[in-house]
Amino acid sequence: MTTTIIQPGEIEKLAGEIPFVYIPSRNGIFHDRAGRLRTLAHDHSMKDFLIFMANLCEAQQAALNDFPDVPLPQETQLKLCRAHGMPPLSVQSWQRDPAWQQALRKIADRVQQHATPASKETIARLQHMDSAALEMLAGAILSGRYEDIDLAAAPFVAAALQVYWTHMTTTLGVRAFGRNDISNLCPACASAPVASVVRIGGGEQGLRYLSCSLCETQWHMVRVKCSNCESTKDIGYYSIEGSSGAVKAESCDECGTYLKIAYMDKDPHVDPVADDLATLALDLMMDNSGKSRSGPNLFLMTASDPAA
Ligand SMILES: [Zn+2]
Ligand SMILES: [Zn+2]
Repeated sequence: MTTTIIQPGEIEKLAGEIPFVYIPSRNGIFHDRAGRLRTLAHDHSMKDFLIFMANLCEAQQAALNDFPDVPLPQETQLKLCRAHGMPPLSVQSWQRDPAWQQALRKIADRVQQHATPASKETIARLQHMDSAALEMLAGAILSGRYEDIDLAAAPFVAAALQVYWTHMTTTLGVRAFGRNDISNLCPACASAPVASVVRIGGGEQGLRYLSCSLCETQWHMVRVKCSNCESTKDIGYYSIEGSSGAVKAESCDECGTYLKIAYMDKDPHVDPVADDLATLALDLMMDNSGKSRSGPNLFLMTASDPAA
């Protein structure tokens, strides 16, 4: 007789087929994020910042809506990647099409209308950068080298790169991507997650997905497990006193990191990027307790980012 020991997470698997990858709808992804940011901005101490980010997200949606056709991996390549657990659009190896720079110019033009004098200066600086300088900046952002880059310009460049990668993932669709060998990195682009989301509805009800900091792909990971080191011991959940509890920090004593987790059953409109930006107080609290973030928010790069 064989005895099967059920490992953590396998109970979820036994419950039926789990959609491994979830990609939000291309038509509304950044528009919905902008709406969420505006909602969160009400009575928020960082209202102006959140509204500015909302404008940036609207500009991202406009750039995504008319993104030109660009080269994508062929089916044979995708098949090979799926077979070997490799992300086909890896930030380290994918040859970027210069179309992302057109998206950057569109985003910069649009955001400029509502920008503060300081942001206007940054945008002007970006508009004077040549293609090679922009590629260097993109390379530094995508590999987490934040020490020697223009940190004021970085969020605009990141916004354009997000649009480019989201164009590719939404064009290819969920079937293009398989399980990554490294389960805490995006199966499409190999970036670290910005946060995780416990989803509601359909086959994803109650399941936790890590949300890519770059390409909007979400991938399944069982709950109550560190998304950084996969430890299931000493996982703690922290939230700001008096908050709705829709966003918590999932923290791990084993590797000393945390990542935020957003619960759609507490608030169906939570967004991994927007809700992360609106809960910086939680980052401060975790930072004070000696934990560092395991994944970046590309709108909040700092030279000392632990993800670097
Ligand atoms: Zn990704
Ligand atoms: Zn850990």
